[in-house]
Amino acid sequence: MLQGKRVIVTGASTGIGEQIAYHLARMGAHLVVTARTEAKLKKVISECLKLGAASAHFIPGTMEDLVFAEQVVTKAGKLMGGLDMLILNHIAPVNLRFFNGDVASIRKVMDINFFSYITMTSAALPMLKVTNGSIVVVSSIAGKLITPLIADYSAAKFALDGFYSSLQKELQLMNVNISITLCILGFINTDSAVKSLSGIVENITPSPKEECAVEIIKGGALRQKVIAYPSSIYISMWNPIRTIQEYFILLTYNIDNITRN
Ligand code: NDP
Repeated sequence: MLQGKRVIVTGASTGIGEQIAYHLARMGAHLVVTARTEAKLKKVISECLKLGAASAHFIPGTMEDLVFAEQVVTKAGKLMGGLDMLILNHIAPVNLRFFNGDVASIRKVMDINFFSYITMTSAALPMLKVTNGSIVVVSSIAGKLITPLIADYSAAKFALDGFYSSLQKELQLMNVNISITLCILGFINTDSAVKSLSGIVENITPSPKEECAVEIIKGGALRQKVIAYPSSIYISMWNPIRTIQEYFILLTYNIDNITRN
């Protein structure tokens, strides 16, 4: 389904994003990958070309810079001649610690893990409207359930959930055929996650990043609203009361008045 499709993958220099890039390459997609470390991105695109990518480019930079975030989308659109799928996956390095009052560092994490996602989405929407494309947002169980020591990370993931769940409904109300897939992940065996949880979180076996990447791509290609990986975490997100309440809240809206204003 993704052969010849034009895809941006963020946070693709390592971890899950790197694996997403390799799977898309095997499927024959056009790719633009981004992260900060140019040397790693060069290796990733050369591997992608070997694996069969229709084309592969990289754009290095930091998502702390929201101008850069916007430019990645416009440059990628020019390089590939449009956009079919935006996969938002990058995160600032995670440090497990008690909140120490450092508001500036929370703001930095929110810029990288939240506002850059919104910035890229905003820049991509016009292109995705043309292609009836897809946005894939990589989130976490820490954006659904409360966990200590990662207040900044968790805040950004809850914010992503709120923003993209609301945007999903708005696009539906406006009959805009762009899908949004929220990917809720448990513990995955990337080097950074294993390192940051080591000695703090015990008795959980991480799931493989390669399989995780496949599930993320599958969710996006099949235009699913949400995917959970590993599937065992789905139960902790299952909230039928919320779904029913959301349905009834929507019934109270006068959509005609909103679209007219
Ligand atoms: P990694 O830490 O392995 O990779 C993070 C990626 O983001 C790297 O490519 C890194 O590259 C890039 N990055 C870091 N800082 C910046 C920045 N300032 N600007 C641009 N890019 C940046 O993460 P994972 O692969 O483990 O996680 C991927 C996604 O999966 C994340 O959204 C994460 O929240 C989610 N997830 C992961 C879990 C896990 O256990 N691994 C669990 C739950 C969710 P570089 O350093 O070169 O910039």
